[in-house]
Amino acid sequence: MEGIIKRILVVEDESKIVEFIESYLLNSGYSVSKAPNGREALKAFQSDEIDLIILDLMLPDITGEQICKEIRKTSKVPIIMLTAKTSDESIINGLDIGADDYMTKPFSPRQLVARVNALLRRAYDDEKDNNLLSFNQGDIVINQTDYSVKKAGKVANLTPSEYKILITLAKRSNKVFTREELIQVAFDGDYLGYDRTIDSHIKNLRAKIEDNPKDPIYILTIRGIGYRFGGV
Ligand code: CA
Repeated sequence: MEGIIKRILVVEDESKIVEFIESYLLNSGYSVSKAPNGREALKAFQSDEIDLIILDLMLPDITGEQICKEIRKTSKVPIIMLTAKTSDESIINGLDIGADDYMTKPFSPRQLVARVNALLRRAYDDEKDNNLLSFNQGDIVINQTDYSVKKAGKVANLTPSEYKILITLAKRSNKVFTREELIQVAFDGDYLGYDRTIDSHIKNLRAKIEDNPKDPIYILTIRGIGYRFGGV
């Protein structure tokens, strides 16, 4: 997710506050969508790709709480509630219905930005980690987001076919794949080579990710059947 500009939806009816928040968010490198009421907020949430919502509770049409409930039916997008209500009860209620954090007015914009940063990190770094498969204490790391593979910290330049074979084997390391199965899964069956062609991809793959390609620990040959992944 790094390098992609995050879009924040600011739901607030007081234009002075919106401008104030917007300028801080823009200065911090975010893009901003704005909605002055609940109806616009739900519309913006559906049409723009929103990564986080700053949500005022007192709006002219529907309440921030209702918006929060509505959005939580379909999305886990981080929500920071902005409220003039300071009673414990309203804050607890906000968190109960699915807000991730809250700030009471008047608030420090720098603190708001700090909370935005923290929530985005929490929400999206986990997602990023799920796309990384690591084996043998990080000796092999497969990044399913950009399809890159690292061997001992260095990028192993796999061809698309080699990548597909590796990810297929690595995701089901308890299974032995026949050559035919590997052709099916790695090439969607859309492949007219002899099944021995898999062997040459395997050979090249081993050269790129094994310490000793002649005595592999990752791409194991199961004699008479096919291949299995040996990384843990
Ligand atoms: Ca308001």
